[in-house]
Amino acid sequence: MSPAKPGQNESATPASGAEAREDFGRFLDMSSDVMLVVGSNGEFLRVNDTFRTVFGYDIDDLQSLRFFDLFESRPQMREAEDFEARMRTKDGRVLWMRWHQKLFGDQLYCVGRDLTGIKQHEAALERRQKQLSEAEAIGHMGHWRWEMGRDDIEWSEEIFRIFGEDSKTFSPSIHKLTERVHRRDVGRVVQAFQRAIIEEKDYDMEFRIARTGGETRYIHCEGRCEKDANGEVVALYGIMQDMTERVLYEQELHKAKDTSERAYAAKSQFLANMSHELRTPLNAIIGFSEMMQQQMLGPLGNEKYVDYINGIHESGAHLLDLISDILDMSRIEAGKYELDLESLNVVKVINAACHMIQPRADEAKIKISTVGLKNEKLKIVADRRAFMQIMLNILSNAVKFTPDGGSVTIDCVEREGFISIRVTDTGIGIPPNKLASITRPFEQVSLSYARNHGGSGLGLAITKELVELHGGTLLIDSELNVGTTVTVRLPFEAVQKS
Ligand code: ADP
Repeated sequence: MSPAKPGQNESATPASGAEAREDFGRFLDMSSDVMLVVGSNGEFLRVNDTFRTVFGYDIDDLQSLRFFDLFESRPQMREAEDFEARMRTKDGRVLWMRWHQKLFGDQLYCVGRDLTGIKQHEAALERRQKQLSEAEAIGHMGHWRWEMGRDDIEWSEEIFRIFGEDSKTFSPSIHKLTERVHRRDVGRVVQAFQRAIIEEKDYDMEFRIARTGGETRYIHCEGRCEKDANGEVVALYGIMQDMTERVLYEQELHKAKDTSERAYAAKSQFLANMSHELRTPLNAIIGFSEMMQQQMLGPLGNEKYVDYINGIHESGAHLLDLISDILDMSRIEAGKYELDLESLNVVKVINAACHMIQPRADEAKIKISTVGLKNEKLKIVADRRAFMQIMLNILSNAVKFTPDGGSVTIDCVEREGFISIRVTDTGIGIPPNKLASITRPFEQVSLSYARNHGGSGLGLAITKELVELHGGTLLIDSELNVGTTVTVRLPFEAVQKS
């Protein structure tokens, strides 16, 4: 065909037969489909350019080649006018081709389309769909979509599993969904959907469903709005996740927590009652043994009795200490320890505590130094009895766990909003692996040492609780055979912490 002159198209004259053939030849070469004519023995009679580009064969190659040689397995072409087949190119690549063929006389006309790209995409899509549905099965989570105005909903395989339905026989719909949602949750679910549509917002809710057999499952549902080009909501879509195992586990956990809290409260109550009951007879034992020690009503006679009565008095006093500790601990644990807050002079209380510890320190020739207490006017708002107990516990430990001839130093610094009291000793120290547990009730580093020096293992636990009740913190630093520093940080103005 000769090149068209301007304006020639509109007044196109019919092409001659030769021109038309030439035209068609060109069109065929331009087509993206492969076209060929095959003889009765499969020999190539004519092929278009696309065939050569797709399969990579030259005209010369085709002399010795038959159409069937290009197929991976010989197709039964006579039976089907349309078929798909895997074929090989000259350089060995595999192509997926779809063929349309027709017999004219003894010549077979074939038009083929390369589907390799589409097939690869299909395979990738299938792979991804499989991965998605496996991931959904692992996470017990499926996806869904609902087009507004319709009754049916699209569900992924996992949602069928969550609802205990067979995807082959069950067709999900709004109607069937609301039928399965727990009676008390239906209203909330419908409302959430309506709000999502009206407010065009993402939403998120939890509801229960009853499976056909009556089994309850807990569902977490999250959704989004799908909008069209005009910004109108046209569909809702999202995920549903089966939370049943987690919800049941949480319920069990709550139950267990309640039970243990009740048992704990009962134990604390029992200890509080017992401690109270034990104190009365103990006070009698201590009081009367003290009178006997002093031989107020006349001499005891035998020297041995004096020894015994000293023993009775000492043991009674020790038992009373222990019972007071247990009572304090159980009151704190039961949340019944009320702080009686007042403004108090820090140095005065610390000095009073030192004074009470002094006899024991003197016995072991341990020097207590308070030169670090500089500001004698320093005041904080705290519970006097609790603050005294804190200082006594820390100081008595410092003396108790420091070998003869050692020293205990106390200092106090003021920071913004709080004070920091440090008690440092040159004692046996605490092993690093025990530092964290030592403030728990009844924890002691060495039973034999504690037995020799007395102590219940409650002192630090009570101290820590009391400090924290004031809104403060207790810190322990220690090095074995070097010494221990206990730091108490207390706010200037304590507020009872519950
Ligand atoms: P205890 O009645 O045994 O003194 P505490 O709760 O006061 O109970 O202390 C627990 C344990 O912490 C002690 O038995 C001891 O092992 C260790 N401990 C506490 N204070 C010190 C210290 N200053 N030096 C070394 N060890 C200490």
